[in-house]
Amino acid sequence: MAPNHGYVPLDGGDTVMSPGSWEGVMRCVGAACAGVDAVMTGDARNAFCATRPCGHHAEPSKAMGFCIFNQAAIAAAYALETFQLERVAVVDFDVHHGNGTQAAFFNRPELFYASSHQSPLFPGTGAASETGVDHNIVNLPLPRGCNSELFRARIESGMLPAIRNFDPQLIIISAGFDAHRLDPLAGLNLEDSDFEWITTELVRIADTACEGRIVSILEGGYSLEALATGTTVHVRALMGIAAD
Ligand SMILES: [Zn+2]
Repeated sequence: MAPNHGYVPLDGGDTVMSPGSWEGVMRCVGAACAGVDAVMTGDARNAFCATRPCGHHAEPSKAMGFCIFNQAAIAAAYALETFQLERVAVVDFDVHHGNGTQAAFFNRPELFYASSHQSPLFPGTGAASETGVDHNIVNLPLPRGCNSELFRARIESGMLPAIRNFDPQLIIISAGFDAHRLDPLAGLNLEDSDFEWITTELVRIADTACEGRIVSILEGGYSLEALATGTTVHVRALMGIAAD
């Protein structure tokens, strides 16, 4: 539980709880599950959850890397149980590998996790050889300096076909914007247009596979400028609005 005052470290430094943290993370998890409710009941075609802290480093029994609970993994489990789904995919384009989501999904073939991320970089997991119990994990490590052209080529050849093949009934996006060239914590060189592109590709897959059902959940992004512009093009693409 959160402290009454001050800060409590959970993992040696990166992840701390303040008096407001518990309510904050409960609202993050609540938003993600409310997003699932909205798209599964048909109230919305897709949903974007502007949540912080991020979640994809949180493992089933361990907070780490700024993350306390894993909103995306919890939303996926919630969707399976509440709506009796058989296949839920999480697609993660945050610049860091979502070790927590992978850990939660690794032995569960009804859950699929695809991640593009800079490698080497925190948290050190996410090698292409980590494929899950039933090829339900797809990792695309990207080199420092990766630009738009390489990113799109790798996603097109290594990730999109695997998502189509899994044939998800719901797509959850771990939407981090720290692969942007302006981000101070990482070294990829993506542009806003790349976030628009991958979002549009995922919307296309969802339109074909699952009546457009996408729940997108904010992950990292440490340039406030890139976070604002990246989120804007992402949400507009979810809404089917072309960039200016
Ligand atoms: Zn990140």
